[in-house]
Amino acid sequence: MNAKRIVVVGAGPAGMMAAIRASELRQDVTLIEKNPILGKKLLLSGKGRCNLTNACDLDSFLKRFSKNGQFLRDAFKKFFHLDLMRFFEQRGLKLKTERQLRVFPQTNRANSIVEVLKKELYKNKVKIIYRAVMKDIFLQENKIKGLLVADGRIIPADRLILATGGVSYSFTGSTGEGHELARKLGHRIIPLRPGLVPLETRQQYPNLLEGLTLKNIRLKFTLLQISNANRSSSKFVTGFSDGKKEIISPIGELLFTHFGISGPLVLSLSGEIAVWLKENNHVYVEIDLKPALSKEQLRARLLREFKLNSKKTIKNTLKSFLPKRLVDVFLEVAKILPDKKVSQITQKEREGLISLFKAMRLDIIKARPIDEAMITRGGVSLKDINPRTMESRIIKGLYFAGEMIDVDADTGGFNLQAAFSTGYLAGENAALN
Ligand SMILES: Cc1cc2nc3c(=O)[nH]c(=O)nc-3n(C[C@H](O)[C@H](O)[C@H](O)COP(=O)(O)OP(=O)(O)OC[C@H]3O[C@@H](n4cnc5c(N)ncnc54)[C@H](O)[C@@H]3O)c2cc1C
Repeated sequence: MNAKRIVVVGAGPAGMMAAIRASELRQDVTLIEKNPILGKKLLLSGKGRCNLTNACDLDSFLKRFSKNGQFLRDAFKKFFHLDLMRFFEQRGLKLKTERQLRVFPQTNRANSIVEVLKKELYKNKVKIIYRAVMKDIFLQENKIKGLLVADGRIIPADRLILATGGVSYSFTGSTGEGHELARKLGHRIIPLRPGLVPLETRQQYPNLLEGLTLKNIRLKFTLLQISNANRSSSKFVTGFSDGKKEIISPIGELLFTHFGISGPLVLSLSGEIAVWLKENNHVYVEIDLKPALSKEQLRARLLREFKLNSKKTIKNTLKSFLPKRLVDVFLEVAKILPDKKVSQITQKEREGLISLFKAMRLDIIKARPIDEAMITRGGVSLKDINPRTMESRIIKGLYFAGEMIDVDADTGGFNLQAAFSTGYLAGENAALN
């Protein structure tokens, strides 16, 4: 029997894994990539260290996806984290599991992951066409026939796997052409939105703290829905809300940036917050800098500290409570002069400090643009894809894999596993069916 001509578009983790699996099954596989290199986004992942998966059990894993995670059950049954880890370890790359069960290569270099994938593609004789941009897809009687590349080349195909990614970090190549072509062929596209995205704040002080990470803090996001009738001239009035919603984070880390806030806690909740940030809504976050202490415990600690250091300035005293870089800003927000002696701090000021420790507030004005999001939410509708095969329910012989489908997850290695697993499933089914 002749080998099937399988063309995979996009050499990210999903496309590379799809090409590897289809070629293992002895098909004639071509991988098309617009960049001159493989895995451009993969090389950036995990701050260049590549958090390739997470070692938690399947149910916990699926809970880290937004509502569509269940769609991935079949893909994960076929090829899950242990399979992925074995894939790399059997090819000589040692892995390690860090806190929160995040898995990384022991080399701490994403490039090691890309190198293993590249070697495997070469070993399996996958034809890789670099610098080739897919422009169109040809059908005959609703079946895949081939595709057109921007330079005019026509590549015949019996099966086509689209793995062109989302639309974030577009300089890595993911610019949404795959979605456009899928739409043209009749697939529904769920609107593309930012996920895992930093947030902009009205207050400017995060700029002064850029790069500072606060560890062991808790965030409380509040949404106030304000109807037009109750809308005052001030955008940030909080007294006339019609509805209120809150999200309280677990304890974790926050990062200040030049425009606002980021870091794992913010990114994890940002998808929901981006939905909240509609016109007429007012969203703010309160940072609990001492989540392990109640107000009473904090008061007792402050009083003890104030008694012991009555001659010290408040600025110096607070250095044992807060990161050094935060102290000046904290006192400015509290409206207390940093050189004021502790003995001169009034009871009202002390109570103000306690409240600020428990709820340092920032108004959120918007999410950063989708291009700065780590992940794209939305994509090819799951209603148009068979979860057991990743084949389109509309066009025979067309498969989807990776971030371009309407599935997204939290940070922690979940998104890359989804890309590898859906790629594997698509590659296998394109080869066998
Ligand atoms: C900064 C950053 C860090 C991240 N870190 C992690 C992490 O540590 N762990 C984790 O789980 N997830 C992480 N992610 C998310 C993860 O990288 C993505 O979810 C994953 O890369 C998606 O894989 P993909 O193969 O679907 O798409 P992509 O990796 O985006 O690959 C798609 C490929 O398709 C190519 N392409 C697109 N259109 C065309 C076309 N028309 N013709 C030819 N080629 C085309 C692109 O050039 C690209 O190479 C991170 C994301 C970012 C931005």
